[in-house]
Amino acid sequence: MELALHGRKLLITGGTRGIGRGIVLAAARAGADVLTCHRQDGEAVDSLLRELKETGGDHHVIRADMGDLGQVDRLVGEAKDRYGRLDGVVNNAGVISHIPFAELPAEEWSRVLDTNLTAAYRVIQQALPLLGAGSSVVNIGSRGAAAGIPLRAHYTAAKAAMTGLTRSLAKELGPRGVRVNVVAPGVIETEAFDAMPAERAEGLRAAYAQKTALARLGTVPELAGPVLFLLSDLSAYVTGETVNVDGGI
Ligand code: NDP
Repeated sequence: MELALHGRKLLITGGTRGIGRGIVLAAARAGADVLTCHRQDGEAVDSLLRELKETGGDHHVIRADMGDLGQVDRLVGEAKDRYGRLDGVVNNAGVISHIPFAELPAEEWSRVLDTNLTAAYRVIQQALPLLGAGSSVVNIGSRGAAAGIPLRAHYTAAKAAMTGLTRSLAKELGPRGVRVNVVAPGVIETEAFDAMPAERAEGLRAAYAQKTALARLGTVPELAGPVLFLLSDLSAYVTGETVNVDGGI
């Protein structure tokens, strides 16, 4: 067995920036054909398309908001039309939000739950007829869901629920050969850090780094690696697991 994804058909949500972009490119370079989605047009989409083109696969980047069930269904429909089957799904699209719990409006609770949790339910349910024996679903959770994070009760509630969804589906779908796992990132350095004032970014880096055994933040390729492992046959007997990628918090 080897870490090869040649010809595998993958649906990866939220692939134009950050962690999703890293997973999309790593999978495409390992030989997979990838269909991904985003909300906003712009340079992030154009540069992803340029990099994907170099890998030579059958890739598609589609605008679809994972906070809207109709658009989730359309996205999975695109995967069906273009590939006819799926060998892997990565539920990565997510939004972060910081609000004191006492002030958290119901609309914000719903927005965060819709994108971070309900989208995964719907993507997997719609994709089920396309997922055959040997296929793999990877849900991107958060290390903070187990630990708790002030001001992010809604976000961590959604991410913690991904674990229950994953464990139950691992048991329900296991008999048909579909594996389901969670990858829970600690703090991974994405473009979001570049967008902050330099002093704030440095402060955050230092604060997070001292909580980890490896004394640093993670990188996007370091997060993509375990996701590729779970998508590949190297992990053929791994299901219902949460893989923490957190530098040893
Ligand atoms: P980013 O904000 O950097 O990137 C998010 C990507 O998802 C973008 O491509 C964005 O596209 C897309 N996206 C967001 N919302 C939607 C939506 N409603 N519909 C379609 N696409 C969407 O996020 P990260 O890379 O930091 O995070 C990726 C995942 O990892 C999330 O689930 C997050 O919760 C999780 N995570 C990240 C951690 C980190 O340290 N970075 C830590 C723990 C968990 P567009 O720009 O067009 O909106």
